[in-house]
Amino acid sequence: MNNNRDIATGVSARLANKLFKQTRAFAHAISDFPIKHLYLIGVCCSALFILFALAPPEQAEAKRNNLNLIDKLTQVEADSSTIEAPNFNDPSALGISPEAEIYDLENPLPKSWRRIRVEIRAGDTLGKVFERLSINAANTQIIEQLTSAPQGAVFSLIHPGETLTFDFDAHDTLQGLSLRATPLIYYIASRTTDNRFKIEEHHIKPDVHTSIAHATIQSSLFKAGQQADLSETLVMELAKIFRWDIDFAQDIHEGDQFSVVYETHYLRGKAIGSGKILAAEFINDGRTFSAIRFEDANGEADYYSVDGEPMHKAFLRTPVEFTHISSYFDPHREHPILHSIRAHKGVDYAAPRGTPVKAAGDGEIVFAGTKSGYGNVIMIQHGAQYRTVYAHLNGYAKNIKANMPIHQGQIIGYVGSTGLATGPHLHYEFQVNGIHQNPLTVKLPNSPSLSPKYLAAFKTQSQFLIHQLALAKTNQTIVASSQ
Ligand SMILES: [Zn+2]
Repeated sequence: MNNNRDIATGVSARLANKLFKQTRAFAHAISDFPIKHLYLIGVCCSALFILFALAPPEQAEAKRNNLNLIDKLTQVEADSSTIEAPNFNDPSALGISPEAEIYDLENPLPKSWRRIRVEIRAGDTLGKVFERLSINAANTQIIEQLTSAPQGAVFSLIHPGETLTFDFDAHDTLQGLSLRATPLIYYIASRTTDNRFKIEEHHIKPDVHTSIAHATIQSSLFKAGQQADLSETLVMELAKIFRWDIDFAQDIHEGDQFSVVYETHYLRGKAIGSGKILAAEFINDGRTFSAIRFEDANGEADYYSVDGEPMHKAFLRTPVEFTHISSYFDPHREHPILHSIRAHKGVDYAAPRGTPVKAAGDGEIVFAGTKSGYGNVIMIQHGAQYRTVYAHLNGYAKNIKANMPIHQGQIIGYVGSTGLATGPHLHYEFQVNGIHQNPLTVKLPNSPSLSPKYLAAFKTQSQFLIHQLALAKTNQTIVASSQ
């Protein structure tokens, strides 16, 4: 177990690094998801039954676009006959990527200017790149101007794998500089008439196609995703969709299956990454869960069951990432310290001291303080009916106090062993109308269903996606239409 944990931590660290960049591109951060858990399930390899279908771009359309693109490209090249790639970089890796071609088309170079592309290396700063390019002193002064401009901070935080594009005029004065932060997002700094730099964010619109994949889990969800050619981000998004119904830390079984319908982004016919998950199905221990993405008129998107019930529940099943359950809900338990028969009105989740504890649902903190046997304890009231209790805490999260509103998943405190506790664990209670229920089995209330005015649209839209899910499962690699 320790070993697995180390591996998991290593993978998490690498992943975190990778994700740091992705968060620049995607507004919805995934940091709240228990990444570690995805890797804890197992590490032995075995063969997988996989299905993966990529939709190629539609031929006729692509051909026509290509012709247009070639015309425009020729134009750009004619205008900038002196495009040079510095020889310390591999020229074949520069200037020919589909995203670079599109960038050139969208940002044509004036006559007699030249454009240089540089791939950022480990340890690079803007200053180091300027040095390597032997950019003259007058141009070097602009680093300060650039990084202090509004939005300029992006230029002081450059990462390996990103690309910088320099545009020099006929007098070798730097007129423009752009940073490709992701294949789809550029920050373009261009010189203004008063000799300052204006920075703009520029998005490249990819061609979006629909792909389907299916996998059966042999060792871990993560491995199954990998073998189905799904990115780590997509697998985590998948787990996030089902996290209210499936315990991905404790409850993934060999033979569990999933199917997913998702967007794939293309630039000039080359797949550059995945986009949103449009629909997914997960078969966990014989139980089937389906989720369909639906966006309402205000652009608010969420996942719903085929009946329009939200996947998102009003409560998290478990408020902490635990190692094991050290004591179950039991009305007739002998107390481990007091040795008398005392009901155990909650469940004990053993976890290392300091593990964050999250609010199980939206609500209001009604108590945060010390109570004899409980030690440091937080009580949250959720509407009129529900109350949750988090006991033996080592400490409270910053600013936590009574009467403050709290959101589902918000960190409220940390696992400890204050009060009557034999070791670090979270004692968690779930009360309905003042009566203690078993937190592991209590029927959790749903979030509100899809509003009736959207239901018809949802049903219509979901038909196509349900069909795609079925195709993924039945082994057919049918291509879906582009959007
Ligand atoms: Zn307990």
